[in-house]
Amino acid sequence: MKKLLALLTALLLVPIAAPALDGPVYEIFVASFQDSDGDSRGDLSGILEKLDYIQALHPKGIWLMPIHPSPSYHKYDVVDYYGVDPSYGTLEDVENLAAALNQRGIALILDLVINHTSSEHPWFLSARRSLPIEPCGQDVCPHPNLCRAHNPYVGYYLFTQGSGKHPVPGAEGWYYYSNFGYHMPDLNLDNPKVLEEITAISHFWLDKGVKGFRLDAVIHFHEQNGEKNAAFLSWFNQMVKSHTQDAYIVAEAWADRGTIDNLYRSGIDSLFDFPLSGADGELVKALRAKDGAGLARRIAQRNQDLKDKFPAAQNAPFLGNHDTGRIAGVLRRDLSSLKLAAALYLLQPGVPFVYYGEEVGMTGSGRDENKRLPMLWQGDGKHLTLPPAEADQPQRQTLGVLEQAEDPASLLVYYRALLAARAQCPEMARGRVETLDTGHAAVAAYTVSDEKGSCAILHNLGDETISLDISWPGALLFAGGNQQGTPVLQGETLLLPSGTSCIFR
Ligand code: CA
Repeated sequence: MKKLLALLTALLLVPIAAPALDGPVYEIFVASFQDSDGDSRGDLSGILEKLDYIQALHPKGIWLMPIHPSPSYHKYDVVDYYGVDPSYGTLEDVENLAAALNQRGIALILDLVINHTSSEHPWFLSARRSLPIEPCGQDVCPHPNLCRAHNPYVGYYLFTQGSGKHPVPGAEGWYYYSNFGYHMPDLNLDNPKVLEEITAISHFWLDKGVKGFRLDAVIHFHEQNGEKNAAFLSWFNQMVKSHTQDAYIVAEAWADRGTIDNLYRSGIDSLFDFPLSGADGELVKALRAKDGAGLARRIAQRNQDLKDKFPAAQNAPFLGNHDTGRIAGVLRRDLSSLKLAAALYLLQPGVPFVYYGEEVGMTGSGRDENKRLPMLWQGDGKHLTLPPAEADQPQRQTLGVLEQAEDPASLLVYYRALLAARAQCPEMARGRVETLDTGHAAVAAYTVSDEKGSCAILHNLGDETISLDISWPGALLFAGGNQQGTPVLQGETLLLPSGTSCIFR
């Protein structure tokens, strides 16, 4: 650790462009967050009521899961890309929310589901009706809205004749392709008319004050075709940023590192760090093996690989989202482990994503509905939204925001402190990571540096307090304690208790 100062001086500090987002994003399932009008279903005005709560977590963006009209509770099958589901609110509510967030320096990021539409979308219904009708072969079609040769919507989807994935109702011999089920027909993203629609939809929402998009299911855009998917994302990125230069784009590629890295070639800002996340991900594995040094090496390697190839990119680490079992269940609701897991991903450079309720230790596993339970504003269950109808698991966390806000040892207070400290380290947006060798396998130690500054971060994944000689020009900015104690600096000796983390800056 004595080498720290020399190491930092030696770091190559290259000026880089301003980041699209210089902080974390908070993911919200609107229906389960906050109800503003007494129908026990979360809505956009409810989010507006909770902006002070959200801002206390120091996010630079909130990502709303889909808000458009849809037959499903989760709304990942859209029937109107220009509308707002009536139970969520109105277009005006979106504008109000975007304006209020922009005033606070928080970007509103919408989930954009363009791999597929709902099978009830008017485009699909129209195309379906045209399929059984023969092309008329005349210059002037007598039934332009019915004839498939003259109906552009037929070309919006991936129809085949003779064989295919799903039979088209009412059109014998016709089939359509869908990756996610019969109710989610895939769009034909080779069709320039579809790209025109996507352009119009994106610009519409940007004009409403939206500052970015989370793209759903991008590896399925062109099935198993990384080249075409990267090309599509490149097109999308330029299309959005030629309209709104500082918009932020993050894509969901639930895949291995090779697939994810290939998509960074598109120039989009972020892709979710799936290999890090979840019950079998690198972070939980390192926690279980108490392999701090190994995790620090992987974080540094990941970060350097990205920086070297795509200097403008920002990794998007996360613990869990609406599709994965909540981290509280994965870590058996052990408070120390949850605090350590939080520090291990929130203190990585890039744009970390916090899934609503994670910060109070909400649980949820098994079927998807269980992962999307009502935000636990208070432990007695009062004033909560209704859970998704098919949820078959209760919320196991009994302490909500109300109770935890008053408890200095709570998970919520820890998240707030961690994120407040992170917000004081601008280099966390896109700094470069270098590991520090402490000689202890259980310690994850690394620096994050850019032209704005440097910080050193240490986590103890082991069972014992570790004593380290440390020489750092700055001060101890954050000392995150637990029931084992709190990191303490005595002269040049740092005592780092089991499960704790600290930041020097
Ligand atoms: Ca409501």
